[in-house]
Amino acid sequence: MATHLIIVGPPGAGKGTHATVIAERYGIPAISTGDLFRQHAKAQDELGQLAASYSDRGELVPDEVTDRMVAERVAEDDAQPGFLLDGYPRNMHQVEALDALLGANGVDAVISLEADDAVVVKRLLGRAKIEGRVDDTESVIRHRIEVYHATTQPIIDAYQARNLVVSIDGTGAIDEVRGHIFAALDAFLGRAGK
Ligand code: AMP
Repeated sequence: MATHLIIVGPPGAGKGTHATVIAERYGIPAISTGDLFRQHAKAQDELGQLAASYSDRGELVPDEVTDRMVAERVAEDDAQPGFLLDGYPRNMHQVEALDALLGANGVDAVISLEADDAVVVKRLLGRAKIEGRVDDTESVIRHRIEVYHATTQPIIDAYQARNLVVSIDGTGAIDEVRGHIFAALDAFLGRAGK
């Protein structure tokens, strides 16, 4: 049976890092919609140019475009054993589109990586300094986190109502958090990873 997972978490919670190892453990690809859009933008194909006109302004790409891109990606051979979605669904319409794609019981678990705002603000400020991102001021970072909470909470609530959410404290060391994710997910799915 295929394994369909979703990971959510605020910017700075280490979502991308953990997504890769979780996907490896269950033998499925990690599919990040942000990465997919960036790949298309780099290739300068039609989808890439369209997506860039939105993502360059920090706006969401229209659902119709995003849903189609996800549908095409998950139809590929490597995604037949399942997949871990990162960055999708981003709103309730996308939750419904994913249900339509997988069938209502298609999502197996939603990993919610949790970290206090103070922790992620500190991490993101540190990262901005190292990477020389001068635009990433504390107020910009705080706004991004507020937007994250406002948009993601309804999605988490919807999956919570289906008892699919596995909450993980994302504030420890990477290895420690990874251990917690594996243990919680193995127990939740009722099977061990690879
Ligand atoms: P991310 O790396 O996840 O922050 O995504 C980068 C950009 O890609 C976002 O600012 C959006 O423009 C676009 N994007 C990624 N995921 C989605 C999504 N699920 N729906 C709409 N746009 C998305």
